[in-house]
Amino acid sequence: MTLVDSKAAVHSDPCRRWQIRVRGAVQGVGFRPFVYRLAQRFDVTGWVRNDGEGVMIDAQGRYLRAFLDALRAECPQLARIDDIHCNDLAPTEQASFLVVPSGQGKISTVINADHPVCDDCVRELFDANNRRFLYPFINCTNCGPRYTLTKKLPYDRVNTSMAQFSMCRHCAREYQDPADRRFHAEPIACPSCGPTLGTDIAEIVSRIGAGEIVALKGLGGFHLVCDARNESAVNRLRHLKQRDNKPFAVMLANAASARRLVALDGGAVALLQHPARPIVLARRHAARLPAAVAPDVPWLGIMLPYTPIHYLLFYDAAGCPRDTRWLLEAQDLVLVMTSANPAGEPLVIDNAEAHQRLAGIADHIVTHDRDIVIRADDSVLRIIDGAPAFVRRARGFVPEPIKLARPVPPILAVGAYLKNTICVTRGREAFVSQHIGDLDNVRAIHFFEESVRHLLDILAVEPCAVAHDLHPDFPSTRFALDLGISTVAVQHHHAHVAAVAAEHGVDEPCLGVALDGFGLGPGAKNWGGELLWVNGGQWRRVGHLKPLPQPGGDVVARQPWRMGAAALHALGRGGEIASRYHSQAGAAVIAQMLENNVNTPLSSSCGRLFDAACGLLGVVPEAGFEGHAPMVLEGLVSQPTANRDGWRLANGVLDLLPLLEQLIDQDAQYGAELFHGTLIDALTSWIQSIAMESGCQVIALSGGCLLNQVLADGLLKSLQRSGLNPLLPRRLPPNDGAISLGQAWVAAHDPGLAG
Ligand SMILES: [Zn+2]
Ligand SMILES: [Zn+2]
Repeated sequence: MTLVDSKAAVHSDPCRRWQIRVRGAVQGVGFRPFVYRLAQRFDVTGWVRNDGEGVMIDAQGRYLRAFLDALRAECPQLARIDDIHCNDLAPTEQASFLVVPSGQGKISTVINADHPVCDDCVRELFDANNRRFLYPFINCTNCGPRYTLTKKLPYDRVNTSMAQFSMCRHCAREYQDPADRRFHAEPIACPSCGPTLGTDIAEIVSRIGAGEIVALKGLGGFHLVCDARNESAVNRLRHLKQRDNKPFAVMLANAASARRLVALDGGAVALLQHPARPIVLARRHAARLPAAVAPDVPWLGIMLPYTPIHYLLFYDAAGCPRDTRWLLEAQDLVLVMTSANPAGEPLVIDNAEAHQRLAGIADHIVTHDRDIVIRADDSVLRIIDGAPAFVRRARGFVPEPIKLARPVPPILAVGAYLKNTICVTRGREAFVSQHIGDLDNVRAIHFFEESVRHLLDILAVEPCAVAHDLHPDFPSTRFALDLGISTVAVQHHHAHVAAVAAEHGVDEPCLGVALDGFGLGPGAKNWGGELLWVNGGQWRRVGHLKPLPQPGGDVVARQPWRMGAAALHALGRGGEIASRYHSQAGAAVIAQMLENNVNTPLSSSCGRLFDAACGLLGVVPEAGFEGHAPMVLEGLVSQPTANRDGWRLANGVLDLLPLLEQLIDQDAQYGAELFHGTLIDALTSWIQSIAMESGCQVIALSGGCLLNQVLADGLLKSLQRSGLNPLLPRRLPPNDGAISLGQAWVAAHDPGLAG
């Protein structure tokens, strides 16, 4: 649209002057140049600047309403306007429109998440006439790294890992020109002044083609990369990474290439192309890739390129085409891209660390000289009931805040033991960190401590209290107790339910179901299949799954057959254990333990119920990784089917032993369908009966078992059919990754805290 057209099409008023306050994610995202360009277009004079609350505009002209409409309608892709407020001012003499330096007050309240290279930059990347042709670190205000290279606020180049690169004349000019797409693009760079890649793209591609494993420095850490079509390369990577059977994610050039491998439906394409460029779990077509990429399970984690380096790999593999049609056409190259985190430790981000820790795994290590400040794994999502649901929340989504129902005091919450995250509240916002991981090793605990420091620092929050799990031995709990500020201990499943309530803005009594692997209940009980009444800081256990013994304790999570044995024992068929599990070492001993009630702690865990089903059906008797057996069980289901005689319900206790008995000697696929279908119906009738008694219609669904798409989708729909209002986690994963938010929200209700 030309200048004249745009003005002719809109209504002209007498000359007015407005002070326009814009709140939201409007800093560091090209918002001021965008306002500048609009001002040119609509003949507006005045100025724009960043300040502590967002962006302030002083605008004068005859087309202010059209200017404001365009401000809303054409907002840059990375920006988000929460609120616009206008004040009338008396018109003055103003000849031009200026971008003025930041105003008073606390500057840059928001840091943005990392973004994939934008379409404009991709076009320049493959334009032989552009000065950034094939430059691996091209970016602009609309794209590129943010959170992972920011040391502190305000978000200015000097506070990022780009500080060590001084801009060349050309870059400086772009950086200072309000009309340029790179105006104040803090990571701006070009081949003559910016970071350099340690290995040529062509060499990387040829090494991968030859079957080598390459460690590649990315946005939030190193990846281990190999050719997913090369079975021996994939097997070697699996062996070297000691990654038993856990599925690898793959990267493909574009959606057309992805369609060859997986079924993309129900919003999966949009999710793949989401600015966070997450890994999306999708059903795969039969046998297009070696089984070693994702053994046992029928879905595949896929993602699209998000850094210029990724695009350059696919470009080179495509034979360096002269035009850019290849960007939309299906490409053959499929790359395994797995986090470079040896033995479950945190992701490697540092060049020296990469050479030290990845030398035994990678044949070649590709570094560059732009430091990664903050570790961030790839995020993982899947579609549940037509909308995205998190499996792991990290790169691209942090540090976007979750809006709470009301402002709360500043609180630090330190999360659980597994899949740890931390959370810091500031007013109505809750900032949940990226996935930190299991706190079972020293490096992970360091990463946890570093994340606490960094998040508090960057948000300039001084917490008045710290919330932690009830479990006294978690490293996170010990850390919290050592801080010397007020502490609030929060029961694990209370936190699960509170997290869902918090993200959905629920601040009234609700029911919550926590379908989980393990959490400590009061009196050192093993919980994990709980129905709770929750009202902020108050809660009551109003129901639970009937407990099963766990022969040997925690080890059952890795040996689902033991839970099969426990179910047989509970059914009065303990005499069959030794013969049915004769191929498992120690089956007779387990039978004895159950018989004599030795080292067989009871657990109401839903995860253990899944393990029992797997154990009885002979599905993955020995698991290679956490959740392995239930994942395979879910993969067997094409249509869940229910048996009304599969459960008993009395006094809030849901007993699924009848269902478990029906699984004995059953065909695995039919058994999996019967288990899922009956469990969904049983949970529904259980929740419904308690909802009737309590008068609560809102049901928060939480716990790691809801990563199971069949269960989550089925339970959601069936509760809706019952006239209830079930809430599924959408901003955080249902598993322990959400615990920190729940802890913070519970602590916010603590009467001891001011506010
Ligand atoms: Zn860009
Ligand atoms: Zn330059």
